[in-house]
Amino acid sequence: MAGEPQADCLFCKIVSGEVPATVVRETDTTVAFRDINPQAPTHILVIPKVHYPDAASLAAAEPQVAADVLGETGAVAVDEKLVETGYRVVFNTGSGAGQTVFHAHAHVLGGRGLNWPPG
Ligand code: 5GP
Repeated sequence: MAGEPQADCLFCKIVSGEVPATVVRETDTTVAFRDINPQAPTHILVIPKVHYPDAASLAAAEPQVAADVLGETGAVAVDEKLVETGYRVVFNTGSGAGQTVFHAHAHVLGGRGLNWPPG
């Protein structure tokens, strides 16, 4: 069924606790944890607990949960004191855009200057 945990999904395993992660925030619908290979001094992933392969499919199927993910990116930015200096929220979508884990997630990046356009 749509949204159900997938046995071969790394982020579903983080949601269940089978794979450990440094969790910084958790709500009924989301988990936020530190990226294992940070690309900035602060690099946190915000994921929905439900499984959808990318942000667009999550938003189409469960828009309230997509809004929860977006809201949590803002809460992470406040917690990590990124608001004053600025930060970036990224949803890599598709392998051509660098997506490697096909469970919807937002990257929250900050703590250094961020160039535009991104690579
Ligand atoms: P994507 O490339 O799909 O947009 O982002 C996936 C992110 O997941 C990458 O930034 C990668 O470093 C991170 N990642 C991959 N495996 C793990 C893991 O086991 N634990 C954590 N915390 N992050 C991971």
